[in-house]
Amino acid sequence: MKTIVTVVGARPQFIKAATVSRALLEAGISESIIHTGQHSDANMSDVFFSELEIPKPKHFLGISGLTHGAMTGEMLRRIEEILLQEKPDALLVFGDTNSTLAGALAAAKLHIPVAHVEAGLRSFNMKMPEEINRTLTDRVSRWLFCPTASAVKNLKIEGYSTPTFQIENVGDVMFDATLYYKKNARWPSELPESLRKKPFVLCTLHRQESVDDTKVFTELLSALSKIAQESPVIWPVHPRSRKKMESLGITPSGVHLIAPVGYLEMLALLEACTVVLTDSGGLQKEAYFFGKPCLTLREETEWTELVELGVNVLCGLKSSAIEAAFYRNLSSPPDFREAQPYGNGLAANAVARCLKDSI
Ligand code: UDP
Repeated sequence: MKTIVTVVGARPQFIKAATVSRALLEAGISESIIHTGQHSDANMSDVFFSELEIPKPKHFLGISGLTHGAMTGEMLRRIEEILLQEKPDALLVFGDTNSTLAGALAAAKLHIPVAHVEAGLRSFNMKMPEEINRTLTDRVSRWLFCPTASAVKNLKIEGYSTPTFQIENVGDVMFDATLYYKKNARWPSELPESLRKKPFVLCTLHRQESVDDTKVFTELLSALSKIAQESPVIWPVHPRSRKKMESLGITPSGVHLIAPVGYLEMLALLEACTVVLTDSGGLQKEAYFFGKPCLTLREETEWTELVELGVNVLCGLKSSAIEAAFYRNLSSPPDFREAQPYGNGLAANAVARCLKDSI
């Protein structure tokens, strides 16, 4: 039987792994999961494993809360030890976190071929830790599983070609996840049912560039307070943002601040909201899957097709621009034209099939 070691560590990777692990099992590939511990709180990790029925990690490394270099280095060392014991036929990583890069690098140095799901995405902003992680991971991967045509194009422009690299546009595994779990969506128990029936804005905010700089973060909080005067805002707060608010001693007024929610609760929030305000990569797409306009609190995005379709607006990080985009959206919400930029909901099966045929 073919064997794969999968490395996960952060919230979005658990959701992606949920779909791919199921497909690997169906394809008859044996998978062991390494959880680096990058996210390990119950509401950032355990809830996903239990609710989404992800196989229990065989190895839990408990590495978190370090600087980027220390975290990536420690992960690299520990993953290498495991790979030397397990000797898998391939290693699988998702997305763009430190866990992604550490896993890919550890395997590549041992000549274990690497499969990267979400390959080819680019923000072209090398200040983002995610951009560094994803470009380097692509470079040492054998299979580049792209979610979109534009991701394939990015790789081609950078000179990626066969036979060194196998580039496949499989579609987006997060679209698979939304389609599969939507029927189990559950309204968060922390929130009153009455909110569900009113128009509300769903917000998430967690990126280093949005949160760590006090000036930028307070500007974003000010935008949220102003928007909350017009419409209820629900914000499941990421630990990084919670910590920053605590250190500054401020919270945006009138905003429903709740703990991070599980994926099934997030799906219920997406279903019921009127607009999404976020700096998250995953949420930008999920807003689209649910036909909700998205105001992205960033200067650039990897999901450019949504901007081209007119359903995602890049607002930047200034309060005045965010408010202006919010009111523009209220007065003229975008049309959701028929388009399928993220595949047919069977991306995970395509990944598993390809690996089965080629490892
Ligand atoms: N998510 C969640 N609960 C939350 C916030 C986000 O389940 O409280 C999900 C969200 O629906 C998406 C994923 O986590 O599927 C996105 O993760 P995140 O925003 O942390 O990372 P990014 O997508 O920016 O890499």
